[in-house]
Amino acid sequence: MEAKELIENLKAELTCSICLGYFTDPVTALKCGHTFCKDCLLQCDEQADATLTCPECKAVTRFSDTVPIKNLQDFSITGKTLIQKLLFSLPLLTTCDQHGEKEKLFCEQDQKLICGSCLLTQEHKDHQDLPLQMAADKCKKKLQETLNVLQKKDGELKAENNDMGKQEENANKHADLYKKLIRCEYKKMHEILYDEENEHLQKLNQDLEDNLAKVQTNKAILSEQIQLFQQMILEIEESLNASPFKMLQDMKGILERNEELRLQETQTVNLTFTSSR
Ligand SMILES: [Zn+2]
Ligand SMILES: [Zn+2]
Ligand SMILES: [Zn+2]
Ligand SMILES: [Zn+2]
Repeated sequence: MEAKELIENLKAELTCSICLGYFTDPVTALKCGHTFCKDCLLQCDEQADATLTCPECKAVTRFSDTVPIKNLQDFSITGKTLIQKLLFSLPLLTTCDQHGEKEKLFCEQDQKLICGSCLLTQEHKDHQDLPLQMAADKCKKKLQETLNVLQKKDGELKAENNDMGKQEENANKHADLYKKLIRCEYKKMHEILYDEENEHLQKLNQDLEDNLAKVQTNKAILSEQIQLFQQMILEIEESLNASPFKMLQDMKGILERNEELRLQETQTVNLTFTSSR
């Protein structure tokens, strides 16, 4: 079995089938012998009662019938570190197809692993080669730098996003404030206009009352005058029909009263019509 395959098998032995990570506080169900992280198993327990269904084989058991496996916990921690180290050093085990030698060098131009003999061939003649560990360190450094740049940029974007949130808040605050001010100003103007309107209507009503009163007064005066004139007309008509003696007797009084009547002035009515302001 290849080393890589063995490492994969070892990893599988230390992996929880629920979270697919290395075991954390592993517990084994006594009934079926399957092992899971304690928290993973507890989260799987959706039933309200004390029973538990094994996620692997569906056997019904109880949480009280599981036991913690302390050794496996320690082994998981050590195994995780070991596997990472093994996987990292694994490329050292690769062998050059062409020369059958271990590939201990990394060609920077071709970005691939090569053996010592490869280095001497025409193909890699002027190429820059690095020992594997150094190439890995260089690669790691480069990735770390890229990561740093990304993290910095990420931080900036988050800060900018945060700032956008504040700007949004500011925009809303500003709009709210001015909405209130505008409403307040217009309310005042409406009140002023309303008062003005009422004032005008009151004035108009007052004018109407005055005008109607004037008309009424004048009508009364006119009807009084008409009555006097009719009396006069009647008196003169009677005199014309009376005896000459009577006519001459009444003549002086009639003419005097007629003069009085004629002198009475007819009043002209001046109505007030207020137009708009
Ligand atoms: Zn788990
Ligand atoms: Zn089971
Ligand atoms: Zn080679
Ligand atoms: Zn090369």
